[in-house]
Amino acid sequence: MKLSRISVLGATGSIGLSTLDVIARHPDRYCAFALTGHSRMDVLAELCLAHRPVYAVVAEQTQAHLLEAKLSAAGLSTQVLHGPEALAWVAAHEQTDAVMAAIVGAAGLYSTMAAVQAGKKVLLANKESLVMAGALLMEAAKKSGAQLLPIDSEHNAIFQCMPGDYAQGLSRVGVRRILLTASGGPFRRFSAEELKSVTPEQACAHPNWSMGQKISVDSASMMNKGLELIEACWLFGARPDQVEIVVHPQSVVHSLVDYVDGSVLAQLGNPDMRTPIAHALAWPERVESGVGALELLAIGRLDFEAPDPILFPCLGLARAAAEAGGTACAILNAANEVAVEAFLNRRVGFTAIPVIIEHALAVQAAEQVGDLEQVMQADKLARRNAAAWLANKS
Ligand code: NAD
Ligand code: MG
Repeated sequence: MKLSRISVLGATGSIGLSTLDVIARHPDRYCAFALTGHSRMDVLAELCLAHRPVYAVVAEQTQAHLLEAKLSAAGLSTQVLHGPEALAWVAAHEQTDAVMAAIVGAAGLYSTMAAVQAGKKVLLANKESLVMAGALLMEAAKKSGAQLLPIDSEHNAIFQCMPGDYAQGLSRVGVRRILLTASGGPFRRFSAEELKSVTPEQACAHPNWSMGQKISVDSASMMNKGLELIEACWLFGARPDQVEIVVHPQSVVHSLVDYVDGSVLAQLGNPDMRTPIAHALAWPERVESGVGALELLAIGRLDFEAPDPILFPCLGLARAAAEAGGTACAILNAANEVAVEAFLNRRVGFTAIPVIIEHALAVQAAEQVGDLEQVMQADKLARRNAAAWLANKS
């Protein structure tokens, strides 16, 4: 079997580490071609020692020198590069067979686009890139023949439940709706009053999943589900009204596809990202992921309920942005990134997050998306407007 060379962008993060765990289980199938990390250089060094990639990419030159010296002292010839151009370069490298796009936030957009334009098999965890520039990424994939395989557990589940020819259009293949499940996050049962004083620690303590800080806060505010709604629209050619959010606190049913004949197909599994990662890595084959068998009898019951739009306004903001189209989703995403960071730094309370996003969407008109530059301009202006809101507050 030909060894598949994988570039893991965001190797030091939660998805990156899970990806390398799956890769390490199949040394006959996969090897690391490039590993990238922005901080936690000690972790990146250990990963390089374990996986011996051809390239490592870090943020700055000083980090690069230190890491390269450390690796060469250990007998490794890994070349260490730095900066966003190097990220895009390894993502598009002719010797890489697949790219795991697992950088968090807008910072992942250029490298994801580079992998797509180069026609790679792209394992897409970085949902923010699709939210910001879905039209451009989908168009580029069509042009280059890149294969976009969703890593988000819900979208991976939907992909598994879709017919192979879904790209023809959902109504043509008999799909009525997509049912996107949500755990509801750590604050599902909180009152509006209690939400005002929650801490970053509480927000990051997700009941079912262990994830990076940003997506943990997004899950707590339900903006994660809003971003995922937009992501589902791009990946599966759905209209926003064809995607329904269902709160399912056990996180066992990862999402469902509802067909016109009344059949509903679901994908189930333990909440462990190694399942969608292994699925996408091996697709259309199957490999072991390290995730144990689902014990339904031990779980006992599966519950479903409607999300609370008043307690979690981010969901409505995301749906409105999806319906508005153009740069609205890039504005939503950028303002959310600024708001989440301010919450994590204790500059604002949790309930300020939707207020900041709503403000950014209200003061900046959405425009048609023509190119990446336009998306980046919209992102920049939204960040400035969100920052101005924060400055006015303090
Ligand atoms: P994380 O914070 O654990 O890791 C983020 C990675 O991105 C790290 O390797 C970090 O070094 C790198 N990074 C951060 N800022 C960067 C920058 N400016 N330039 C280059 N690299 C940078 O995040 P995560 O939980 O692994 O999530 C990664 C992506 O996957 C996110 O888009 C998230 O929404 C998505 N995702 C995560 C999960 C999960 O279970 N963790 C599930 C579904 C989707
Ligand atoms: Mg998800």
